[in-house]
Amino acid sequence: MSDKPAENHTEAHRWLVERVLVETRETARSTGLNKLSDRVIEAMAATPRHCFVAPEQQDLAYADMPLPIGRGQTISQPFIVALMTELLAPGPEDVVLEIGTGSGYQAAVLAHLVQQVYTLERIPELANLATQRLRELGIANVVVRASNGVQGWEEQAPFDGIIVTAAATETPPALVRQLKPGGRLVIPVGARHRTQDLRVLEKDTQGVVLSRSVLPVVFVPLIDDD
Ligand code: SAH
Repeated sequence: MSDKPAENHTEAHRWLVERVLVETRETARSTGLNKLSDRVIEAMAATPRHCFVAPEQQDLAYADMPLPIGRGQTISQPFIVALMTELLAPGPEDVVLEIGTGSGYQAAVLAHLVQQVYTLERIPELANLATQRLRELGIANVVVRASNGVQGWEEQAPFDGIIVTAAATETPPALVRQLKPGGRLVIPVGARHRTQDLRVLEKDTQGVVLSRSVLPVVFVPLIDDD
């Protein structure tokens, strides 16, 4: 956690939200989204990113860029967090699953928008740190578990939405199965260490899955090692 009071970041935080809105407009042709919903803007404005980065990263906490969080992992670029959140179309009653807790920032943004967030992180040290941060911020509707997310979270399924914040070489079938009819899965898919394709999969009420590509993105790999 930062030892600086949050007020020091207020202006930078406001700038960041504006920057995210500008980028949303600039990428509209590719994403099909001209603007973010008010709910997502509010969630971005309400989530203190400086609380999710190390003390030495504080000055960059409200820059629109990914930052290192240790163990070779990164906290995502805020614009991408906002975009993926919007694409998930989260509703207030929703139960969502995130794969790749990392710092806990994306989970905290989602926590403002849905009823319950479940999030899986394969590196226990990061899962513990994220749990601690979320607790310190009083965010009570996120459950973090340290495990491989490729199999999803069977006990809590099905989900209204699933968001994968690490790059998969293909969409894990378990995640598609754990999606409710009418639900959405937002996932970067592509070869490792290359640009990936951010995709939105929608399962219709008949269980048919349609997929569309939204934007080229770069994520750390989704590792399936157990
Ligand atoms: N959403 C995060 C950023 C994610 S970085 C945030 O807001 O900060 C991607 C994370 O996915 C890393 O922490 C990495 O350890 C984790 N990860 C990679 N493969 C995974 C897997 N199979 N299951 C769960 N987590 C995984």
